[in-house]
Amino acid sequence: MRTTAVIVAAGRGTRAQSGQAGPKQFVPIQGRALLSYAIQAFADHPDVDHVVVVIHPDDRATYDQMMDRDGHPAGMLAPVSGGATRQDSVRAGLQHLHDAGRPPTHVLIHDAARPFVTAEIIDRTIAALKTNSGVIAAVPVADTIQRTDPEGMITETINRADLWRAQTPQGFAFPDILEAHNKAVSGNKQEFTDDATLFTWAGGAVTVVVGAESNTKITTQEDLSLAVARDTSGQPKEIRTGSGFDVHRCGPGDHVWLCGLKISASFALIGHSDADVALHALTDALLGAVGAGDIGSHFPPTDPKWKDTASEVFLAHAAKCVADRGGGINNVDVTIICEQPKIHPHREQMRAEIARILNLPIEKISVKATTSEGLGFAGRGEGLAAMATVTVALA
Ligand code: MG
Repeated sequence: MRTTAVIVAAGRGTRAQSGQAGPKQFVPIQGRALLSYAIQAFADHPDVDHVVVVIHPDDRATYDQMMDRDGHPAGMLAPVSGGATRQDSVRAGLQHLHDAGRPPTHVLIHDAARPFVTAEIIDRTIAALKTNSGVIAAVPVADTIQRTDPEGMITETINRADLWRAQTPQGFAFPDILEAHNKAVSGNKQEFTDDATLFTWAGGAVTVVVGAESNTKITTQEDLSLAVARDTSGQPKEIRTGSGFDVHRCGPGDHVWLCGLKISASFALIGHSDADVALHALTDALLGAVGAGDIGSHFPPTDPKWKDTASEVFLAHAAKCVADRGGGINNVDVTIICEQPKIHPHREQMRAEIARILNLPIEKISVKATTSEGLGFAGRGEGLAAMATVTVALA
């Protein structure tokens, strides 16, 4: 067997995005493009000789950037330009393998939107291809399936015992699937939703091997959020929380630093660094979430090196400590406790600044403020306090 994986990534679907440019297959999950997970799974598999990705011609630069950033695994072929539909794109990929000479004996066709395909699923598909010309990964239907009339009334309960939900990879003998695709073009304008349907329409036989619930298709923002909460094998990640608290004393001056912003005030905050009490609390919260000590152990106030340092440096370091442990930051919530200055006019800019430093979408960042009703050191204007809570998902 000479097996090539054909990963279909030419879609223009943008449903999974939150304000990010480009199709969903290039949207990062835990710092890597969705597409890059599928590439890795097939490229790492010992029985897959080559991997080719079918992309939209407009995405070539984005694809090249992704490969440079996420790494070029061995066995990668140059990407192929796809067509207007998924079916056109698969055919373009197959035709390219044929035209390039020494075509594979078998192909595994896979959707880029299924990042959590496992080595075991690929094993089962390849094993079944030894005795079948068509094989798909699928999961048995666990829910009861009802048919309804146009009024929504149940008319039939369908026996689920022989029902499967088709996934990818879908594996085929190479000459057979190429012939089926060419027949579908010449003989029929019909669009098929997957290659197994096309293959059986063309007269081929397809058998089923067990996929996995985790081999899910990412189509919505909710799917993406769920995917972020899983590790690369689809297992749930460990969710950690961290909390931080900090106080700085007020002194003479005309501005304070809060959440990375310079804000006019009738006083200053005293500290070894820029005394950004909010970023210090947030830094401690991130370090706390991964058990990495506190800000003082990383940046001792006795070390002259950190004199007047912008607290952005501390926060970025804490974010790196999280990333070094395979973690991703889910959300950040900061509360500033003071009578003055007023936080509300600066809130959106503060969120944006933290989002920039942590390289997170702004929706994941919260900044709140409260007074202490004139009570205590904050109420008397002797100092400012801040607290922060974060959640972090560990791989
Ligand atoms: Mg501090």
